[in-house]
Amino acid sequence: MPEDIAFQPLSQVEPRPGEEDDQPITTRQRKPIQRLSDRIERLTDGAIKGLGPVLIILAILLLSLCITCYFTVFVPYHFQWQVGQGIFANWAYILNTIWSIYIVWGILGNYYLAVVTPPGTVLDGLNAVDDNALFQSVLAEMETFTELPPTCKRCHLPKPERTHHCSVCKTCILKYDHHCPWIHNCVGHFNHRYFLMFLTYLSTACIHFVIMGVKPFLLAAEADFEGNSWPYWMDRALVAFAEVLAVAIGLAVGGMSCWHWYLALTAQTTLEQYNNSYIRKVCKKKGEKFSNMYDFGIVGNFMDIFNIGPRGHYPWYTALLPIRIPPIGNGKRFERSGRGYVLDFGDDDDDMV
Ligand SMILES: [Zn+2]
Ligand SMILES: [Zn+2]
Repeated sequence: MPEDIAFQPLSQVEPRPGEEDDQPITTRQRKPIQRLSDRIERLTDGAIKGLGPVLIILAILLLSLCITCYFTVFVPYHFQWQVGQGIFANWAYILNTIWSIYIVWGILGNYYLAVVTPPGTVLDGLNAVDDNALFQSVLAEMETFTELPPTCKRCHLPKPERTHHCSVCKTCILKYDHHCPWIHNCVGHFNHRYFLMFLTYLSTACIHFVIMGVKPFLLAAEADFEGNSWPYWMDRALVAFAEVLAVAIGLAVGGMSCWHWYLALTAQTTLEQYNNSYIRKVCKKKGEKFSNMYDFGIVGNFMDIFNIGPRGHYPWYTALLPIRIPPIGNGKRFERSGRGYVLDFGDDDDDMV
């Protein structure tokens, strides 16, 4: 890398008279109607940020309701420990309990890790004394040798590949996927695995929960008729609500889960998928074939997500454990499969929420 490239960080550029320092450069010379849309965008971002903690509490409450309902109503309805019969007579009860505890661990563990793990920012691991040194450090990590690296117009720092600015978090996020209000966090390079596995465990749990809950749901609905009684401590209205909730969440999260598995196994973020589908159409018109430069095939991409197998650093079985395992790499450089087109996000630095 050439020594001391003479960059002037945008943060050091003198603002014009009458301009606000904290205003993004992209909005400085816009017309009034665009300024109004910026204000609406800022209000929306503020609302999403404020709503985050409320949604986390709501998610924990709803999960707690369903877990309690499952273990105090559904399990006793279907399985009873047969006293004096020994373990082998109770194998269904034992297997179901082990499976259920594992799924609950998967949901709560991955949710916790998705919430508390920072997705990764451009400044991760850097401690520079001034802006210029910081700028140079980021460039060194990006391995950018050109004098005109892509630079975020809001953070005023170089943007490594696959990085995008989140206007809710007000920073550039490494391998940005989207900002998720339900985890009050961005989904990025360092917490992507946890987000994906949270969706997977939750949708699997919903299927199991709904199947197990059909008969208790019917009993709750008919408890007043034909002399049926309701023998469980939990209010039957809550049990009915939990069953309906699981159907709704199962459909929504199940769909999201399939979509994110498709993206993960084709090595694309949500944003890249839109760009890739556009480039794919352009290539098709030209009679060329598009291929994603980060795509190492389904198995290779799977190893990359979980940092396992020959491409990773951990054994295969760790993919099934909701434990803290860092992804491959620092999120500022990515191995390329040697084919495909370089993605160009252009000047438009607006983010997706
Ligand atoms: Zn930025
Ligand atoms: Zn964000």
